[in-house]
Amino acid sequence: MRASAGSHRTFLYVRVSTYDQAEYGTSLDGQRDLGIKFCAEQGYADPQVRVEVESAGEEKIERRKELRRILSEIRSGDVLVCRDLSRWSRDQVFAVHSVRQMRAKGVTVRFYTQPFLDHVPGAPIDLLGIIAWTAENERNATRERTMGNRRRLRANGAFVEGLPPLGYMVEDRRLMVVPEHALIVGRIYTDSANGVSVRKIVDWLRIEYPRVVVGQTKKHVMQWTTNNVLKILRNRLYTGYMETAANGRKRTTEPGSGKWIQTHEAIIQPALFEQVAQGLSARKRSGRTVENSLTHGWLLKRVAKCAECGYTVRASADRRVRGGEGGYYLCAKRCDPTKYKDRTPCTNKIAAPWREADAVVEAQVLAHLDGLVHELSVERPAARAEPVPDFKRLAAELVEARTNAVRLVVKGIISEQDAAKQLTELKRDEEALEARRVEYERRQTHDTEEARRAAFAKLTEYRGVWARLSAADRRELLSELAETVLLTASGDIVIEWRPVTDVAASMGGLEVELTPLATVLSDAA
Ligand SMILES: [Zn+2]
Repeated sequence: MRASAGSHRTFLYVRVSTYDQAEYGTSLDGQRDLGIKFCAEQGYADPQVRVEVESAGEEKIERRKELRRILSEIRSGDVLVCRDLSRWSRDQVFAVHSVRQMRAKGVTVRFYTQPFLDHVPGAPIDLLGIIAWTAENERNATRERTMGNRRRLRANGAFVEGLPPLGYMVEDRRLMVVPEHALIVGRIYTDSANGVSVRKIVDWLRIEYPRVVVGQTKKHVMQWTTNNVLKILRNRLYTGYMETAANGRKRTTEPGSGKWIQTHEAIIQPALFEQVAQGLSARKRSGRTVENSLTHGWLLKRVAKCAECGYTVRASADRRVRGGEGGYYLCAKRCDPTKYKDRTPCTNKIAAPWREADAVVEAQVLAHLDGLVHELSVERPAARAEPVPDFKRLAAELVEARTNAVRLVVKGIISEQDAAKQLTELKRDEEALEARRVEYERRQTHDTEEARRAAFAKLTEYRGVWARLSAADRRELLSELAETVLLTASGDIVIEWRPVTDVAASMGGLEVELTPLATVLSDAA
């Protein structure tokens, strides 16, 4: 069978499986004969027959040599003929995607038992799209089923979580003790139970066990960090029990999940595990409650954000200095990158001394309060004179534009792609309009003369008693006045204040939950 010398070539793709030997011959002949007959009827050139022979289990696209060859050879003007879509590829998502790509290239793709998949320009329904959508759903369902399998395996005590914890290896999905590693785990637990800090444990681990190689297929050297040691100290698997659902990741209402069952040899006795767990949480707080924590009086605690990454800045007391006098604000993502999704440390290396930072911010707050009070005391420019925007008409215009875009694409005047772009833009306009309307209404209802007067009174009083406010109330007031408080990489504190209208709207209303001034004043007296 040779290709004709014409301007286009025809490929006939035939796929047979050795899986079903009995069917092999008939399937091959049938597909070839019907395909050739179809090509002749349609007036296509003599097809080059490409036979894909698959053995059982070879379902991956990478193995389909002939299919890949066709995809790389086929050009605009060529014709591809195949029995049906699933014969072309069992992976429906790939099948649809590749057919669309070929058609976009100018290749005619025909399935002789599925004429409804022929490409009809301007057809109202895209069957390939529907097939792709269904296939995608089917894929998700398969994923769900796999998750179900994992649950079942777990319920039978199988370890299906990937890397086993230090001290164990996985054999036939069972956790087996690695004696020399179990010894290290045992020492870590005993030390922690005896009150040795995690940091000290890390120190001796680094000295005594600098190269512990773990992992069965991918080997790596154990990194001794406080985080890793804490993970070991908090891993209940060491007690020989396993949770039948992945810890915390599955809803506990599902049947068979969340139960702890004994599945493997223990390295740590449950009593020791509990003792360590209690010791860890007691030490974590160092016996301090929120009220007497060393950083309790810090103004920027939980208020300031890192200017580089946007995560909250940590208030870190220097325990070497008595009474919490020493200490810094630092980016929390810089200190503990593993607690964040991308696990990369923030580039902001600054450690800003808290006293200086607080003093700077305090001065700015007071100056800002003065400014606000002044601004609220003067007559407001005639803001009401501005015309009321006709939101209804603007919204109607957007709806009209959308209908128009759809009409144009149905008539084939603009392409689907252009229409999609237009619709996205319209959607954005709609959202912007809605935001504008909400903002307008909020101002109409909240930023009233009355609210401004009330805000003026409150801010004047708070300005007066600032020095006597509790740390918590100062922080509350600061977050009420400032949109953002940022700690920059150079150690500066940059405050973005909320506009006076917003402050008036919220402070003048009933939304603020500061301690009532009367209480503050009577406490201070
Ligand atoms: Zn940061």
